[in-house]
Amino acid sequence: MSDTLTTAPTNLLPAAQQALKRYYGYDNFRPMQGDIIQNILGGRDTVVLMPTGGGKSVCFQIPAVVSEGTCVVVSPLIALMKDQVEALKANGIAAAYINSSVGQNESNDIARAAVSGHLKLLYVSPEKLLSDGFLQFLNRVNISIFAIDEAHCISSWGHDFRPEYTQLGQLRNHFPNTPIIALTATADRLTKRDIITQLNMREPRVFLSSFDRPNINLIVRPGQDRVGSVIDYIGRHPQDPGIIYCLSRKTCETISQKLLAKGIKAAHYHAGMTPLQRGKVQEAFLQDDIQVIVATIAFGMGIDKSNVRWVMHYNLPKNIEGYYQEIGRAGRDGAPSTAILFYSFADVMQMREMVTKDVPARQAQLNTAKLERMQQFAEAASCRRKILLNYFSETLAEDCGNCDICRNPPTTFDGTLIAQKALSAVFRSREKVAINLLIDILRGMRNQAVLQGGFDQIKTYGAGRDLPYLDWYSYIHQMLNDGLFYIAYEEGYALKITERGHQVLKGELPLPLRKFQPSEKAEKPTRASKKAANAASTAAVGTPEAQLFDKLRKLRKAIADEQGVPPYVVFSDATLQEMAAERPVSRVGMLGVSGVGMKKFETYGEAFIKLILEHGGGGQYVPSDSDSMFNEPRPRLAKPEPADKPVSDSEDATIQFHQMGLTPEDISERRGLALSTVKTHLYNAYAKGRELRIHDFVSDSELAEILTARAQLGNDATLRDLFDHLREKYDYFQLRMAALYHKRLRGQ
Ligand code: ADP
Ligand code: ZN
Repeated sequence: MSDTLTTAPTNLLPAAQQALKRYYGYDNFRPMQGDIIQNILGGRDTVVLMPTGGGKSVCFQIPAVVSEGTCVVVSPLIALMKDQVEALKANGIAAAYINSSVGQNESNDIARAAVSGHLKLLYVSPEKLLSDGFLQFLNRVNISIFAIDEAHCISSWGHDFRPEYTQLGQLRNHFPNTPIIALTATADRLTKRDIITQLNMREPRVFLSSFDRPNINLIVRPGQDRVGSVIDYIGRHPQDPGIIYCLSRKTCETISQKLLAKGIKAAHYHAGMTPLQRGKVQEAFLQDDIQVIVATIAFGMGIDKSNVRWVMHYNLPKNIEGYYQEIGRAGRDGAPSTAILFYSFADVMQMREMVTKDVPARQAQLNTAKLERMQQFAEAASCRRKILLNYFSETLAEDCGNCDICRNPPTTFDGTLIAQKALSAVFRSREKVAINLLIDILRGMRNQAVLQGGFDQIKTYGAGRDLPYLDWYSYIHQMLNDGLFYIAYEEGYALKITERGHQVLKGELPLPLRKFQPSEKAEKPTRASKKAANAASTAAVGTPEAQLFDKLRKLRKAIADEQGVPPYVVFSDATLQEMAAERPVSRVGMLGVSGVGMKKFETYGEAFIKLILEHGGGGQYVPSDSDSMFNEPRPRLAKPEPADKPVSDSEDATIQFHQMGLTPEDISERRGLALSTVKTHLYNAYAKGRELRIHDFVSDSELAEILTARAQLGNDATLRDLFDHLREKYDYFQLRMAALYHKRLRGQ
């Protein structure tokens, strides 16, 4: 098996990896990126489903850079195109865009550059692409790849349906041999199917990345005194840019007024404003001249600002897709960020009316079902991130530790029996019933739907008589949230049992449920939830690191203003934070910072080094936390370092020896333990978030080799496959440590 794999076509991944370092300043691909790039460079159609901030751009930009010719990127949003092209140029990559905002002369220049092969990436709007003569023009360009960004716009199931997108199927007919990569942050099954069929993709490989955004702290707050809470929060984060989403234009304006009255740099943004007014507000926000935008959901689609530190929902969003997309606008740079949702039951009622008014019955039903999931999220008493991920068909093995519930867990009881009753009823009714009918069956109701379906004949009919309707409603939603079943929307909302559900049904897994509480009671603010919100702040104010970060941020702003680009195009917050922590004052040091590529070093390096020197940087930096001193170089986490989970005493002893510089062999001898035990200790501690000198076990180039091998083998490969594939060069301990390292890099 390994033979066939090693004779795979020329491996371009090393070239891609070099380009990543050179142009973007990043040391490693996030694992999914490596796979994707390999696939597209192999000339195969590729579908990428990855959350906002996951790093989709790199997936087509790097192949574009290392391939001959020009990658044509179809993107629906003019503002976004401009930002992406600016960011590419800042990284030293030749790129341009053509859309309705570009004049004829400039378009002609760009077209010439494309034909003569001087562009690595050409962004076009779908309207432009399909306009008269454009495809003929493209015939004269040597096209390396078609990248379809925001590909969910093709699906009428989705929230951003764009009719022009459905014409993109023509690309395959005109350019049968050019590979297509479609990218979206929507993971919906139906959307995925539409993308593949409508683009006429040929046996595409689909990459579904984790939708987790671990750097976003998820918080739900009770709906009382929202304005007070907002002002209080901003007061505690005076430098952090954020977005407040509201339902109505009126609310946007009122809140923005109230914030302005408190001296906060805020502005409102909604579809009732002229394009000019909106453009101004957006520009000022991008430039960090406005701290807070109070917007209807219209805002954000077209912006790429990576240093949005928090997003608030003043009102309940109408579904989880929308909520997730909106909170995804926070923390795209991977640095700690916060999402706060204000919630009261009245919001649900208001929203229910809105989503069912003036729409066909079928749509109203769908909207209501989706709203109910949103409500369940807001009322949840188990890890919120689990619920979110579950909604996108993902399971998280452990609670996240970065949501309000994880910080303040509610009480639960053993609900296995209750769950089994519900699961059994679903099973016996052949997975054809929706929630309401299921509850009727469980409670032994004799209504038409029950009798017509013959459900009064099944064994579990009436098995749940003892519980009132609302209790069942809550428990079944908890089971949904826990991934025991899912809703097949296209089959009349029937509940389908998952693998996990079957395990509970068979008694192989217990199921804790939380006691049902009427909403008012559940939404009383707790001390702990207040504490959690406080803990969500990004940097400890007043520390030398925070002071330097502040200075760096000011320098970035000055440079950005001078050059007329948004500050995050100069450097991301994450990059500045790393500079503040490591204080590089040499070329090598600066290039070692994640996000500093060659071009950016040449353009900005000196100014930043000078500032760090003035601040008293340059090697004298003494790390304040005990972890940093034995970890060199520090793994570049894409998320806040997880609060360490406790390690056992014995593991701790091993770690202490490791910190003193002992090898696993030495430790094994010193402690009189088997070498394998010592390695297990190290592995466990690393898995629990402890920092180890990973390079004692695997060097950077070895890590890259292992990563490449994993990319080649694909997701389903076992450790054993990897071991064989690498011809036993590494032992299992090294492979496992490397896997953890890569996982952490990805910020999982
Ligand atoms: P998306 O398009 O999926 O929303 P982006 O492509 O904008 O995400 O990437 C989000 C952020 O992550 C950007 O700041 C990007 O530069 C950064 N990023 C992407 N790939 C990597 C990587 N391999 N290492 C470090 N940072 C990365
Ligand atoms: Zn959690």
